[in-house]
Amino acid sequence: MRKKIADLELLSDEVVREVLPIYSAIDQKALKIHAKVLDSFRSVRVSEFHLKDSTGYGYGDTGREALENVYASIFKTEAALVRGQIVSGTHAIALCLYGILRPGDELLSVQGEPYDTLAEMIGIRGKCHGSLKEMGVTYRQVDPLIGGGIDYANVGQALGARTKMVMLQRSRGYQWGPSFDLEKLREVIEFIRNREPNVVIFVDNCYGEFVEEKEPVEVGADLIAGSLIKNPGGGIAPTGGYVAGAAKFVEMAANRWSAPGVGSEVGPSSGFQRLLFQGLFLAPHIVSEALKGAVFAARFFERLGFEVSPRYNEKRSDIVQAIGLGTPEKMLAFCRGLQGTSPVDSHVRPVASAMPGYDDPVVMAAGTFVQGATLELSADGPLRPPYAIYFQGGLSKEYVRLALLSAAREVMRL
Ligand SMILES: *Cc1c(COP(=O)(O)O)cnc(C)c1O
Repeated sequence: MRKKIADLELLSDEVVREVLPIYSAIDQKALKIHAKVLDSFRSVRVSEFHLKDSTGYGYGDTGREALENVYASIFKTEAALVRGQIVSGTHAIALCLYGILRPGDELLSVQGEPYDTLAEMIGIRGKCHGSLKEMGVTYRQVDPLIGGGIDYANVGQALGARTKMVMLQRSRGYQWGPSFDLEKLREVIEFIRNREPNVVIFVDNCYGEFVEEKEPVEVGADLIAGSLIKNPGGGIAPTGGYVAGAAKFVEMAANRWSAPGVGSEVGPSSGFQRLLFQGLFLAPHIVSEALKGAVFAARFFERLGFEVSPRYNEKRSDIVQAIGLGTPEKMLAFCRGLQGTSPVDSHVRPVASAMPGYDDPVVMAAGTFVQGATLELSADGPLRPPYAIYFQGGLSKEYVRLALLSAAREVMRL
């Protein structure tokens, strides 16, 4: 057993040497993205007084406005709503769907099943009070072709007069297939616009921010949403979410967030305004560390004989790395190893359990400073075939390497 463990360390050294050219490409991209973010801070003239908090209604909160202007500048959008009171990515997405869809409208997904936590909201799972379905908004879905491509023939047929919104997702979610890069996004958006120019194109941007040089609105999307405890929070934001896009749609989402007539005019930035700025500033670098961690994970586990998606040298459009472990026991072992290397809660032993919003039991490993902050480093996955673990984040590539070495030890011990 001792020998085997030493071998894993040797292998990890070898893998790092192998992936160095890819690390270097990631650095070059991160430099450009960091420059873009810094330029946005400078063009908005972010000032020391913007870093302070406000209370109560939050009227005239100039820091909040500056932060939203920086987001809008980075994402090349007319407007943005960036709030600590948006609790999660799911909440941010809900603001977009409920803010814009009205009874009689239809929501169309062209990439198959939506992300797990959206199913109850849409009304395709359970009987959740207040689902879109209950409110008379119908849902239609076109499944991708085998291999992951868009089924354009069926999308063309599904688009109709009632289609108010097309929902796209940039990241892979809990799907083995390829994630959706911006070129593919541009292609599908063009196709939809040519058929139905007035349809609202919404992109779930979770896990995609700062992975590519552009963002979805630059390839034609109307509205995007995401979570601040993922990429754009830079591992620093303690909570929050954002919506960005055309001013009209952002305000509709804001009306849902607070109340019609009040919209984005209220909302105190209570307690952590500075951290939202600071996290956003660091985000391009932290995302690049997470990408390096994912590249390392892909090659390391491939060399250990597991299927991985994407492969280490394939193009990435999100920070998620899927590793096909093949059995529930190996998923649990992987999570045990990862959890044991966390800076927080390292003594906790992960078990699979039911999670609100998810169909199958989910196993998760995350010992994070901010609860649920998957950009810090986490692994999770529903216990269902192909028993893949979805691994993402990493505040530093060194940390990712240590954690994966420990995860590999646990998996190989079985
Ligand atoms: C994480 C995620 C969500 C939901 O975000 P939560 O913050 O977990 O609610 C939605 N879509 C995708 C693609 C995600 O990765």
